[in-house]
Amino acid sequence: MHATPEKTGVGLMGRLANAVTAADIPLITEATVRELWVNARQRVIGVGYERPDGTLEHLACDALILACNGFGGNPAMVRELLPEMRDALFAGHTGNDGSAIAWGQALGARLADLGGYQGHGSWAIPQGALISWALMMEGGIQVNALGERFHDETQGYSEASVHVLAQPGGVAWNVFDAPILALARTFPDFVDAEAAGAVKHCDSVQALAAVIGCEESKLIATLANTTRTWGQKDSKLAENRVFQRPLQAPYCAVKVTGALFHTQGGLDIDAQCRVLDAGGQPFPNLLAAGGAARGVSGDAVWGYLSGNGLLSAVAGGFIAAHKAAELVTHPED
Ligand SMILES: Cc1cc2nc3c(=O)[nH]c(=O)nc-3n(C[C@H](O)[C@H](O)[C@H](O)COP(=O)(O)OP(=O)(O)OC[C@H]3O[C@@H](n4cnc5c(N)ncnc54)[C@H](O)[C@@H]3O)c2cc1C
Repeated sequence: MHATPEKTGVGLMGRLANAVTAADIPLITEATVRELWVNARQRVIGVGYERPDGTLEHLACDALILACNGFGGNPAMVRELLPEMRDALFAGHTGNDGSAIAWGQALGARLADLGGYQGHGSWAIPQGALISWALMMEGGIQVNALGERFHDETQGYSEASVHVLAQPGGVAWNVFDAPILALARTFPDFVDAEAAGAVKHCDSVQALAAVIGCEESKLIATLANTTRTWGQKDSKLAENRVFQRPLQAPYCAVKVTGALFHTQGGLDIDAQCRVLDAGGQPFPNLLAAGGAARGVSGDAVWGYLSGNGLLSAVAGGFIAAHKAAELVTHPED
């Protein structure tokens, strides 16, 4: 969707770090914020953060932007708010422990869309790597341990996480062929996963069935259905999909599970990313962007569209930063 040329998180973080250096902005790392200091007029006046050795240091501020994502790294909150993901692997940063929501609750902020999140139905196991959903959009399929398709892969990778977790063992196999393999190899994540042994190469349906551990006849029937074209849909959801061409040997298979990438609900904000109180009024100098704030994906897993995460983080961060600069230059009270 929107990516740096490397198509990796490292590439994005490197550019952010360069921008911070070029602008001569002090950056403190290894510092976990534990407390917000707020005066009687609901103005944030500083934060307290903990160093790795346990010392607490304090820093005053004129405005504060919460960019500490949501609660994907907090298993108790995931169990309570996203019960369908309670057994999912969390693939984001474990520091995303729901701090922003806890502070918001303490301050009387309004929360919104807590049921929204980015799931992913294509997380290679045991390697722990993202296998791009582009493979599915180009004609790959997902089958369960019985060799059966179980959902319409074109509905999206986020909701696919729930469907995959519902299969026996909470796993599925991504099945694709040589043209799709060539595309996959343009993604660095896939190249790393392949180097780690995630991709099984199978010359025949028989070999593919052996890798998956299912009956060959079942797999033959499943693959035969990928030859369907327009006008030949039947009523079963999993077979509603239209394929441009059938998959052909040699096949590839990757064992995957459903993962939680990040949560999309959080602090309610206005169009300038100012955090709103229970009555819908903005706090004087508290802003939020990215996963800390309510996103644009609604209140359920299926509302997440590819790119929505960085959209609210990058565009939201840009808007919040400009508003914060304005508030610091021209305080409203
Ligand atoms: C594997 C994976 C692939 C993804 N691919 C895409 C993609 O292709 N496109 C897309 O749009 N989105 C993608 N996303 C989602 C995207 O990464 C997130 O939406 C985005 O990073 C959120 O940005 P953020 O700044 O809100 O939080 P993050 O980038 O998660 O950063 C928050 C940081 O705050 C730290 N933190 C939390 N609490 C505290 C605290 N109290 N004190 C100090 N620090 C704290 C955390 O440790 C973390 O480092 C992906 C996510 C994952 C996990």
